[in-house]
Amino acid sequence: MSDNTLILNGQTVADYMREETGAKVKELKEQGIQPCLATILVGDDPSSATYVRMKGNACARIGVESIKVVLPAETTTEELIQEINKLNQDPSVHGILLQHPVPHHIDERACFDTISIEKDVDGVTTLGYALNAFGEADYPSCTPQAIIRILDFYNISMEGKHAVVIGRSPILGKPVSAMLLNRNATVTTCHSRTVNIEAIVKQADIVVAAVGKPNFVQGDWIKPGAVVVDAGYNKGNIGDVDYDACLPHSSAITPVPGGVGPVTIATLIEHTVKSAYKSLLKQEQ
Ligand code: NAP
Repeated sequence: MSDNTLILNGQTVADYMREETGAKVKELKEQGIQPCLATILVGDDPSSATYVRMKGNACARIGVESIKVVLPAETTTEELIQEINKLNQDPSVHGILLQHPVPHHIDERACFDTISIEKDVDGVTTLGYALNAFGEADYPSCTPQAIIRILDFYNISMEGKHAVVIGRSPILGKPVSAMLLNRNATVTTCHSRTVNIEAIVKQADIVVAAVGKPNFVQGDWIKPGAVVVDAGYNKGNIGDVDYDACLPHSSAITPVPGGVGPVTIATLIEHTVKSAYKSLLKQEQ
């Protein structure tokens, strides 16, 4: 199978998206609107700091402004809510991203839910999550949307396929399961209490790994010809899928890095620009 395995190149998808988004940024600027994403980083987790920096760099490349709010690890829930409210009220900010995870003492759900739905460009609010489940979100959670975007870009149909998602986090596993279901896949969502995960993955036409464990998905778990999407990103640029072992069994596979990651960032920027567009339409009304 490996000679024929299609590598699902996220960079290619992201480049394509960037062209479309770049044209919209130009149009908005001509109308006097500067799209702007605010990212909030609480504490000094080095991976989170890297993600925020990567998002800032990607914004700069396309002409989207980015504001970085950095808060100390001791920040309280109330203080963080205040910061989010300031950004909610700032008309020059079109998207707000609170980098997950926040320190344990902070009520992350309360903070996510403070983000106004118009600026919830990563679909983290309870309302955004629910709208996504109904297939009606303006801004679905970025990584799940990136996964669907990659499948669409490479014309991989989801309809009628058995999709097995490993992971059920509210930002990834659950929303991508809902999105696959909305695209008429038959979906099984696995988690840490799932019994005999290997046997379930072996039935999958589409495998989505969102576990947070390096090389978790083994080559002999993959049904010949299955499509493998690795959303994982672990220390040392290692995915949740043992890429070399899974590649020979799969018909298509995402690499790490260069798979889901770049498309997630391109999606975040696309959402921010869409939100800026909506603010322009509001002004014109
Ligand atoms: P998370 O919140 O830690 O969730 C991990 C999920 O995996 C949980 O649902 C957990 O089950 C499940 N799990 C853990 N151990 C398992 C096991 N042995 N067998 C089966 N399921 C198991 O992680 P996350 O935020 O969803 O992220 C998942 C991965 O995606 C990470 O590698 C992360 O770095 C990556 N990620 C990538 C991007 C990107 O842009 N590419 C964005 C976000 C996240 P329980 O619910 O039972 O605990």
